[in-house]
Amino acid sequence: MQQKKVYIESYGCQMNVNDSEVVASILAQDGYTPVTTAEEADLVLLNTCSIREKAEQTVLNRIDQVNSLKNRNKELKVGVLGCMAERMRGELLEQKKVVDLVVGPDAYRTLPDLLQQVGGGQKAVNVLLSREETYGEIVPVRLNSNGVTAFVTIMRGCDNMCAFCVVPFTRGRERSRDAASIVEECTQLVRDGYKEVTLLGQNVDSYKWRPVKVDPTADPDAVVDFADLLDLVARACPTLRIRYSTSHPKDMTDKVLQVMASHPNICRYIHLPVQSGSDPVLKRMNRGYDRAWYLERVAAIRRYMPDCAISTDIIAGFCGETDEDHRQTLELIDAVGYDMAYMFKYSERPKTLAARKYPDDVPEEVKGRRLQEIIDRQKLRSTERMAGYVGQVQEVLIEGVSKRSDAHMFGRNSQNAVVIVPRWVGEPARELRPGDMVHARITSSTSGSLQGQVVEPIHETGATA
Ligand code: SAM
Ligand code: SF4
Repeated sequence: MQQKKVYIESYGCQMNVNDSEVVASILAQDGYTPVTTAEEADLVLLNTCSIREKAEQTVLNRIDQVNSLKNRNKELKVGVLGCMAERMRGELLEQKKVVDLVVGPDAYRTLPDLLQQVGGGQKAVNVLLSREETYGEIVPVRLNSNGVTAFVTIMRGCDNMCAFCVVPFTRGRERSRDAASIVEECTQLVRDGYKEVTLLGQNVDSYKWRPVKVDPTADPDAVVDFADLLDLVARACPTLRIRYSTSHPKDMTDKVLQVMASHPNICRYIHLPVQSGSDPVLKRMNRGYDRAWYLERVAAIRRYMPDCAISTDIIAGFCGETDEDHRQTLELIDAVGYDMAYMFKYSERPKTLAARKYPDDVPEEVKGRRLQEIIDRQKLRSTERMAGYVGQVQEVLIEGVSKRSDAHMFGRNSQNAVVIVPRWVGEPARELRPGDMVHARITSSTSGSLQGQVVEPIHETGATA
């Protein structure tokens, strides 16, 4: 088979990063090797995100850049994958003529056939969504990997219909992946030397797998829920650190919290997007919980795991949001004391419930001001939370060399805080490597990271020193 080169660029969420790895695996069967720059590729694929208008604009600009490569390499083929492929197929094929290939998130298995069409000079498109596709048995080819941490997708799509969100339209109905294939992928990652996995889904708390789907002799009523899945992975891989994202406040059960608390290898970190602190806004957002319910879930997390970090997503300036609604969001940030937050200005997305039902009536400058106030408030809370670690000894999994200084390494503690430590430790000095698990005494902090000194013992990759 003739060797061809593919360059895949991922935008948006962690799930897209993992989808690109599934695509690389499907293309490897078709003779493609991944390369790290667009310039050296025969095929450039942009795996895209539609969550906000700005994300789409970034990709549209990037298509123009890739276009210029076609002037030099007439054989170059360009494809758009993911959420924008699903949402903008017409525009991408007709207006952005550079695009040869448009493939939605559930159609990646058809890539080899589509590429044959493209090779024959045609444009190719498949944006069919599926109720079944989970790519369950496909072993992802890890791209840009640090060899330490990996993503494992456990479910696809979303059935929630939050009023602002385009995901149900671009990624289709929710479906869960075979639990056995998830456990198998995690155990294989351990064999390959990985130290940490993040289990991914838009709403992991609604994960449900019926073993009878693949085994007719299984109990027809048996169901593996998310808590069961966490327990299975934690038991099968006791040396692996396990994270997951994203939790949904309406579905997060005490059973999940109990399982987390009972396994030291499940990280003490929960990403629990709140979106707004105001009940009328949450209702219009169709989130399925109110402020009191959310705060009770936060209290439950702290009951089971007092040392658990909590992060969130917040949207500023959703339809009809008043100054009072905004004030409630600021108050909620204080009440929870989040360790970290992702914060966004509301961006209206075509077809969503909000686009059809509510005017996007908060002026842009008000959205901007409110977002800044949210960012400022969260920074105070992050600074406080991080300062709480100073003086403590934390278990840190080393991921790589610090971006700021090559005399330092960076890693994360169980709570997902970034920890910076010197690269050389001990007497005689030994160089830390990605995958080492160290104990570090935290000496100082900022709102975004911790600095520390390694205290022995060091658990080297796979062994205890
Ligand atoms: N499924 C997850 C959840 O329910 O929280 C996350 C989905 S989304 C990929 C990540 C975040 O993007 C959301 O939590 C929300 O804060 C933000 N987001 C989604 N749609 C948005 C929009 N139209 N405008 C601004 N932010 C948006
Ligand atoms: Fe979008 Fe809501 Fe589904 Fe998250 S839970 S992906 S915000 S619809």
